[in-house]
Amino acid sequence: MYDSVYPTRTARFGVALIDSGVLKLKNRACAEDMRPIDDSCGCMTCKLYSRAYLHHLVQRGVPSAAILVTYHNVAYTQGLTRRLRAAIKEQRLPDWVRSYIKGMFPHRDVPQWAVDALDVAGISLPDDICDKRPAHDFDRELRDGAYRPPGGLPG
Ligand SMILES: [Zn+2]
Repeated sequence: MYDSVYPTRTARFGVALIDSGVLKLKNRACAEDMRPIDDSCGCMTCKLYSRAYLHHLVQRGVPSAAILVTYHNVAYTQGLTRRLRAAIKEQRLPDWVRSYIKGMFPHRDVPQWAVDALDVAGISLPDDICDKRPAHDFDRELRDGAYRPPGGLPG
C-alpha cells in the first residue's frame, strides 16, 4: 500500500480511503452529503470540499475530481503511516492493529490473507474482531521443518 499506486488509482475511480474502508463518492448517498470525506482529515480536499461536491465532479467525469480525491488519499496514507509509526514507537502496535482492523471490518469479514499475515507478524485477532483462524501454524511448521514457502526455501 505504501509503495504502490493504490491511493492514486482508487482516487481515479472516485474512491476515497477512510478508516472504515473506502468511500465510493459515486454512490447516491454522497449526492447531498455536505460533510468532508473525513471529518478528522486535515487535507486541502477535506477542508474545502464536501462529499456532495466531489460526487457531482465524479459523476460527471470532471478530471479535477481525481486530483482532489488523490490529495485526500495520499494525505490519508501519510496519516496512517504516522499513526502506525507512533504505535510502533510506543510499543502498542498489536493493540493499534486490532483497533484498526476492527474499524476496517466491522462485520468481522477480515480477509484470510490478512489473518495469516498478522499471525506471522505475531498479532492474533480475538473473536470479537474476526472469527477466522490462521490457515497455517507457521511456528509449528517452521519448528518441524514442514514450512515450504511458495518457490521453495532460499538457498
Ligand atoms: Zn482528506
